[in-house]
Parts: sequence; C-alpha cells; structure tokens
Amino acid sequence: MLKKNFWKKKLNQFNKEEWEALCDRCGKCCLIKLEDEDNGDIFYTNISCKLLCVKTGNCTNYINRKKIVKDCTTLSYNNIDTLKWMPKTCSYRLVNEGKKLPSWHYLLTGNFEEMEKQRMCVRNRVTSEKEIDIKKIQKYITNWENN
Ligand code: SF4
Ligand code: SF4
Repeated sequence: MLKKNFWKKKLNQFNKEEWEALCDRCGKCCLIKLEDEDNGDIFYTNISCKLLCVKTGNCTNYINRKKIVKDCTTLSYNNIDTLKWMPKTCSYRLVNEGKKLPSWHYLLTGNFEEMEKQRMCVRNRVTSEKEIDIKKIQKYITNWENN
C-alpha cells in the first residue's frame, strides 16, 4: 500500500514499490537518442527501442530487458545525477532535483488521461526501431520539449 504523497521525500528513502510507482510511464527514456561527439549535446528522436510497445509506451519484456537490450539503463538513486539525457519531465529527475511532480502525473490525477491529453508521453507518437533503416536515424531527430 502506497502512502499518501510518498514522492515528497528523498529518492534514497523510497522503497521498491514506491520507486516503481513514481514512474509516469511516459516512455521518453526508451527513445533512441544521438549524442554530438564534439560537445556532448543530446538529441532525441521519435524512434523507440525495439522492446517498447508504441501503443502503450511500456516495455514489452521488462523483466528480461537487460539481456535483450544491453544498453538499457537501470535507473537508481546512485546514477540519476549522472544521466543527463533523461527527459526533463522524468519524475525521478524532478524528485531528485527537489521539484514538484507535474499536474498531469497519474499519481496526482489518478489516471493517465491528462498526460496523454497534454502529449507528455510517447504513446502512438513514435515508430519502433524495428520499422526503420537505423542508418538514417538522424532524420528522425525530434524536439520533444515543444511537443
Ligand atoms: S529495453 Fe525496455 S525499458 Fe529498456 S529502453 Fe527498451 S523499452 Fe525501455
Ligand atoms: S522518463 Fe522517467 S518517468 Fe518517464 S518512463 Fe522513463 S523513467 Fe519513467
């Protein structure tokens, strides 16, 4: 049973259930990103990891994901500071930075409708890497901040 407003404490005080519940299921962390070799700038695309369901925005094999997608990152309190590519709206990033959860977050609204309405998740808005020529990935660069 989750405690009321549990997300207002520090990330290192979360138990496993609270940690999993914090995720807003936006799916943005599962998009393919490109890094500028010269300055380290990160560019998001609208192409998803092969394991992401593009309709639900959920990983289709969460338990075994690390065996199938070697560079899938396991988020933790110890690495959240170093993952500069995580989306600015990521709940873990926000809590870690001492910020509030956005008003559309399902923990505040009770469902995912507002998040979808405000287009804050990838559902039905991306293509799987399985469907494209990955050598042409640059043409799929997308500015999610403005979406
Ligand atoms: S393996 Fe699953 S959790 Fe990892 S990036 Fe791909 S879809 Fe996301
Ligand atoms: S970006 Fe953060 S909140 Fe969104 S799905 Fe990934 S881990 Fe969850």
